[in-house]
Amino acid sequence: MSSISNSELSVLAQDIKRWGKELGFQQIGISDIDMQRHKQPLMTWLEKKYHGDMSFMERHADLRLHPEQLHEGTIRIISARMDYLPPNAGFARTLSNRQKAYISRYAVGRDYHKVLRSRLKKLGDKIAEKVPDVSFRPFVDSAPVLEHAAAEKSGVGWTGKHSLTLHPEAGSWFFLGELFINLPLPTDIPIKEQCGSCTACLTVCPTNAIVEPYVVDGRRCISYLTIESNEAIPVEFRKPMGNRIYGCDDCQLICPWNRFAKLTNEDDFNGRINMLNTDLIELFSWSETQFLQNTQGSAIRRIGYEKWQRNIAVALGNAEHSKAIIDVLKSALRKATPLVAEHIEWALQEQSNKATIESEDNRKHDRLLRSINKGLPRDA
Ligand code: SF4
Ligand code: SF4
Repeated sequence: MSSISNSELSVLAQDIKRWGKELGFQQIGISDIDMQRHKQPLMTWLEKKYHGDMSFMERHADLRLHPEQLHEGTIRIISARMDYLPPNAGFARTLSNRQKAYISRYAVGRDYHKVLRSRLKKLGDKIAEKVPDVSFRPFVDSAPVLEHAAAEKSGVGWTGKHSLTLHPEAGSWFFLGELFINLPLPTDIPIKEQCGSCTACLTVCPTNAIVEPYVVDGRRCISYLTIESNEAIPVEFRKPMGNRIYGCDDCQLICPWNRFAKLTNEDDFNGRINMLNTDLIELFSWSETQFLQNTQGSAIRRIGYEKWQRNIAVALGNAEHSKAIIDVLKSALRKATPLVAEHIEWALQEQSNKATIESEDNRKHDRLLRSINKGLPRDA
């Protein structure tokens, strides 16, 4: 590769940050590729099987620790942050209504993989205009990249106790993407860790998935259970799932740093109407064709129809007792796959338990009314 002076590289690094902002990223940071500090924590996490059935995590552990093996010649990682919080997020409105479906807010708009990858590719092309023989490769979430570690090294944020990246002026509602590159660009300085003594995310987690600060047992995490896992959702986690049918935002919602989060500038990340606050029954009633149509261009499509139905069945079991829910569950049972059928049966049992409690409550209420009436004068 043609030689570039240090001063030219410094100017280029500034240009890259400016271009990144012009392309819609809120922040760009540059780091080297030394990931050795993360080796032991990653190995321990894998040994404890916290990755569940994400076997690719185990298979590609070495690639995570050696970015140059993922893209030959890489000596720097350019980390890019893009805010995704939609203005119509309506967290409480949906989470508090058990008849509605809660979808993690990063997934309610267009598939971020496509949006970020194409912007990162444009950033790489801009660099290539200045350095024609540069070699780069964009990554967004789908490759074995330690994205939070790279973001931390590049000053894009610190890693919070929930294991996500946090920025003091932007909270954590942002996507990360990386451009691996073979230029010896000057690196940025990491920012200070600022969780302090806070443990709010550990306490709020519905499934106690944050087993110690900075360590998430994926097998307990609702994001993993509803998106990554292809298996039955363990019964112990079904009730804590509540109405979360795709991912979970609780550890971010509680985080005090998210007071400083900014709304997204991207129309692509604004929530689609049918993803924000829709009745569970309506989503459960979608045929596979409707699922594919309605999730076109969305990250949700990646989980497939069977897991979609599995997740909603659990949420329907967690909803208030309703005849309409029981009817829709019974009707779906006839054509459900074995995986979905097992979750439907669980949901029907939950609904039936609630009916028993409700009728017992009604009987108690009637008895109370009768005893009150007995004590009242005849014309009261
Ligand atoms: S996403 Fe939800 S389940 Fe997973 S660690 Fe955070 S709060 Fe817990
Ligand atoms: S909730 Fe508290 S401990 Fe958790 S990431 Fe935020 S600041 Fe850190």
